[in-house]
Amino acid sequence: MENQPKTFANRDALISHVRAISPSLAPDDSHVSDTVGGREAGVGLLEKIDPIAYGRSRNYLGGAVSYLSPYIRHGILSLNEVRNFALELGPKDGDIKPIEKFIQELAWRDFWQRVYQQNPSWIWNDVEDYKTGFAPEDYSDTLPEDVSTAQTDCAAINYFITTLQTTGYLHNHARMYLAAYIVHWRRVKWQAGARFFLAHLLDGDPASNNLSFQWVASTFSNKPYFFNLENLQKFSHPQAPCEEADNLALAGSYDDLAARLFPNGVSS
Ligand SMILES: Cc1cc2nc3c(=O)[nH]c(=O)nc-3n(C[C@H](O)[C@H](O)[C@H](O)COP(=O)(O)OP(=O)(O)OC[C@H]3O[C@@H](n4cnc5c(N)ncnc54)[C@H](O)[C@@H]3O)c2cc1C
Repeated sequence: MENQPKTFANRDALISHVRAISPSLAPDDSHVSDTVGGREAGVGLLEKIDPIAYGRSRNYLGGAVSYLSPYIRHGILSLNEVRNFALELGPKDGDIKPIEKFIQELAWRDFWQRVYQQNPSWIWNDVEDYKTGFAPEDYSDTLPEDVSTAQTDCAAINYFITTLQTTGYLHNHARMYLAAYIVHWRRVKWQAGARFFLAHLLDGDPASNNLSFQWVASTFSNKPYFFNLENLQKFSHPQAPCEEADNLALAGSYDDLAARLFPNGVSS
């Protein structure tokens, strides 16, 4: 790719430039993510983190998550800087427990990076067999069109796809739901799902993304991750359409869904 300009008169000029060099963008697609690049924006978000509230609410789609991932991913903020800032916000008696969850999640990022560094071939290849009762060839190589266009028969899944495509960000739990839907409900290879995520995420990172996809798929864990509508309703927020009638494929007990999704039985 030819050298690209690094400075722009303003954000609109930057957006026009990106449009001009994005041939695959539909002419009527006017979405622009709210995420603003650069150190000032990253530090501004860092100063707003609440690691104690995070520990209590991070699994909820409306929880006190940090939105720091694009800045960490692109080296604008280092993990050490974020960790040290969080430690300053913890209890003054040195008890790390209330902020432990936040520090642990930073550690997950570091862990995936180290796994990638030591095993580069794992990024696009199955680390282990699927434990789903299916072989890799039972999974499709390509993402179905109704997924890439957010027209599946599950309204909540369409909402997550649209959020991913229009904002470049998804909450961790929504990533897990969408990845599980792609791999287990639609029986699509995790690699196709991972490529789809990487094409849209502003924090898109081969280690965190692809190894998390392998964890969901069960090729890098001892069982497949899946969920049911009740779980989604519990952790969701009002914007996500979670009515049962609009999400029939997700409804049922875990035993019912396991029987539907993994009819050959789950191995470990
Ligand atoms: C299928 C799937 C794909 C993912 N793809 C990516 C990706 O491409 N890039 C990416 O940075 N993260 C990825 N993650 C991890 C996680 O979802 C995001 O880091 C997190 O949601 C980013 O939002 P946040 O900054 O508000 O995170 P917070 O919840 O506020 O966490 C703070 C920071 O900790 C790190 N972190 C948090 N959770 C995780 C996690 N589970 N694994 C690794 N690091 C974590 C991130 O650097 C994050 O910015 C993926 C997770 C799943 C399940």
